[in-house]
Amino acid sequence: MNVELISVYGNDATVCDAARVSFDKKASNYSEEQNSRLINYLVKHKHTSVFRHPQLTFRIQAPIYVERQLRKHEIGLELGLPPEPNSSINSISGRYVDFSDTYTLIKEWRTQSKDSKQGSADPLDFYGQSACDEIEYAVKEFCQNAYKKLIDLGVSKEQARTILPLNLNTTFLWTGSLLSFIHVFNLRLKLDAQQETREVVAEMLRLLKENGNFAESLKAFEL
Ligand SMILES: Cc1cc2nc3c(=O)[nH]c(=O)nc-3n(C[C@H](O)[C@H](O)[C@H](O)COP(=O)(O)OP(=O)(O)OC[C@H]3O[C@@H](n4cnc5c(N)ncnc54)[C@H](O)[C@@H]3O)c2cc1C
Repeated sequence: MNVELISVYGNDATVCDAARVSFDKKASNYSEEQNSRLINYLVKHKHTSVFRHPQLTFRIQAPIYVERQLRKHEIGLELGLPPEPNSSINSISGRYVDFSDTYTLIKEWRTQSKDSKQGSADPLDFYGQSACDEIEYAVKEFCQNAYKKLIDLGVSKEQARTILPLNLNTTFLWTGSLLSFIHVFNLRLKLDAQQETREVVAEMLRLLKENGNFAESLKAFEL
């Protein structure tokens, strides 16, 4: 897993500018404290359209099953940054590139949860962990070698890739508004989200906090 925050458009003042235009004013006409109070007011009263102006782009390397879950978030993630409108999510293509050699291996195997809302529960014991590691490694090696054999036999990449497992890493660029990513954080950082996906999303949020442009907005959304 690897996450980069490659582009940030806007900051807390962008949010305030959008709200203050109603009174033909800008964030710069007010103190930091007044703008901070405004952001809290906007979140509290669900005036969320103003959080759609800032735009973020992440470059993410994650296993296919994580990318698949993240792709379910659509609204506000369909418009890319100018000059690349409609560049919401673009992935590496297994039709053109052989990326059959990078996988995300499970760090710790978990048992199935008895509560159907939770996908998994406690970790397996030490022996369970090493037995699962062995299976995972064997399957990965088998699929990776089989892929290479199909390529050697002259099969196209777009067909050979169909035998690769879900823990294969893919790389994608993901652009969307601050508000849409806040929605992603709210849903995918909860305990009922898959842990491997939570880890990717937690890293996205960590990078955004480190960037610092949206300190007040993130605080107001309790992130
Ligand atoms: C823990 C967990 C388990 C999940 N399990 C499954 C599963 O088993 N199977 C599965 O298919 N998906 C599953 N999902 C995905 C889930 O159903 C959503 O598709 C995903 O979380 C995206 O959420 P969203 O629809 O709110 O996001 P977006 O599509 O980004 O929408 C954002 C918000 O915009 C509004 N909105 C979106 N579309 C419309 C519309 N047409 N009309 C009016 N308002 C709209 C809603 O308020 C929505 O919350 C799961 C998600 C989570 C977090």
